[in-house]
Amino acid sequence: MSLTDTAIIGAGPYGLSLATHLKASGIPHQIFGHPMHAWRDFMPPGMIMRSEAFASSLYAPQRGYTVEDYCRLKGIPFQRVGMALPLETFVDYALWFQSNLIGDVRAVDVVDMQRTKGLFHLKLSDGGALTARTVVIALGLKGFEQTPPVLQGLPGRYVSHSVAYGNLTWAQDRDIAIVGGGQSALGLAALLNELGARVHVLVRDASVRWLERPDASRGLISRLLSPDAGLGRGWACHVLSEFPQIFHLLDDRRRRRIIEKSFGPSGAWWLRDRVVDKVRISFRTEVRHAAINDDRVVLRVRSGHDESYVTADHVIAATGFKTDMRLHRFLSKEIVEAISRKDGLPDLTQNFETNVRGLYVIGPATAHRFGPVMRFVYGAKHAAPRVARHIGSSVSADSRDGVRSAAESPIAEVTNQQSGTL
Ligand SMILES: Cc1cc2nc3c(=O)[nH]c(=O)nc-3n(C[C@H](O)[C@H](O)[C@H](O)COP(=O)(O)OP(=O)(O)OC[C@H]3O[C@@H](n4cnc5c(N)ncnc54)[C@H](O)[C@@H]3O)c2cc1C
Repeated sequence: MSLTDTAIIGAGPYGLSLATHLKASGIPHQIFGHPMHAWRDFMPPGMIMRSEAFASSLYAPQRGYTVEDYCRLKGIPFQRVGMALPLETFVDYALWFQSNLIGDVRAVDVVDMQRTKGLFHLKLSDGGALTARTVVIALGLKGFEQTPPVLQGLPGRYVSHSVAYGNLTWAQDRDIAIVGGGQSALGLAALLNELGARVHVLVRDASVRWLERPDASRGLISRLLSPDAGLGRGWACHVLSEFPQIFHLLDDRRRRRIIEKSFGPSGAWWLRDRVVDKVRISFRTEVRHAAINDDRVVLRVRSGHDESYVTADHVIAATGFKTDMRLHRFLSKEIVEAISRKDGLPDLTQNFETNVRGLYVIGPATAHRFGPVMRFVYGAKHAAPRVARHIGSSVSADSRDGVRSAAESPIAEVTNQQSGTL
């Protein structure tokens, strides 16, 4: 069994960014996961990034590794905002980032993790094993998809979640109902329609909120009044994009209100012309019942006081995600029980550490504590350096105090840095 200081579980934008910071700080580490797996295998070819180009970079300590640097190197015209950045370019960029700055990523899954005497013991899908003092979970959204209960009883071949795509050619010439009114629903609707599927989108709200195309040529005054921020435009977006530590200091109620109210479903500017008047959309709808009849999905849909039936060959739930630590099947029961959490969401210190000493979480699963920026690649610029610094300082403190041996830490040992007290 090998031994390392820090194991990073997940090789998406967050895990890869963190690896560069640990490397720069000289902290021994290993990173596990298929690099950019969610982006390469579970997002549809032809997808355009929702985030602006300047907000789609992974985050390294050294200069020269942003999307802009990559585009310059490859001769791809770059625009900070208002550029439609294709998924394929983003994935190529991230793999270039990885091969230049990180090198070795072990493309395996962690299948089991136990903790004894303060050390984490990991089992890997290739039969390997590893012990680490510190573990950072950077697993993104996969496994957290939410399908409305009314659709859950349908056989798998009639229903899927938007997170599952991938190639869409199977849908050619078929009737597809999409439930949802956000970016995933509208993005899939455009791509499926262009591939020759007949698409019907069922939106709960009274309209789609389309985002405006940012204007790259705005003058200084306009940019000062309403800056382009990682999450969008305006000062509120700027604060949420740049100061997740302030969000962390808010009370539960305020944090929940911001998450629920501020960033509801919307469609990116580059999608509007591909959807409006091209794809059938019904508003104020709620799916009340779903059944299979004659090899077709039949949805009973309420709209106001009326009810009607929508039939399709397949229904896609583009209904979002809900992160929940209990769903990480590789975590031992003892670790899950030891993590202090509410409704499945881990309590986290300002340094992204759970109350189980040495166990950190980064990425979308931390949005409840650090705000909506963590649902996007942009949040890696805050999480990666912060976590690396904290791991670095605990490595030095432990070596100084001579406590690197595992003995002292019982599993539920609570750190002295509970949330909000730093
Ligand atoms: C359709 C869609 C479009 C999106 N568009 C944008 C966008 O334009 N801009 C933006 O900023 N955000 C976008 N997002 C959000 C974005 O996906 C997340 O913010 C981002 O991927 C989170 O990165 P991550 O590193 O946390 O996880 P991910 O990128 O999801 O990576 C997870 C990693 O974990 C690995 N893994 C999984 N299980 C295991 C295991 N058991 N052991 C080891 N490794 C494992 C995977 O192989 C992978 O390497 C989009 C999301 C979706 C669903």
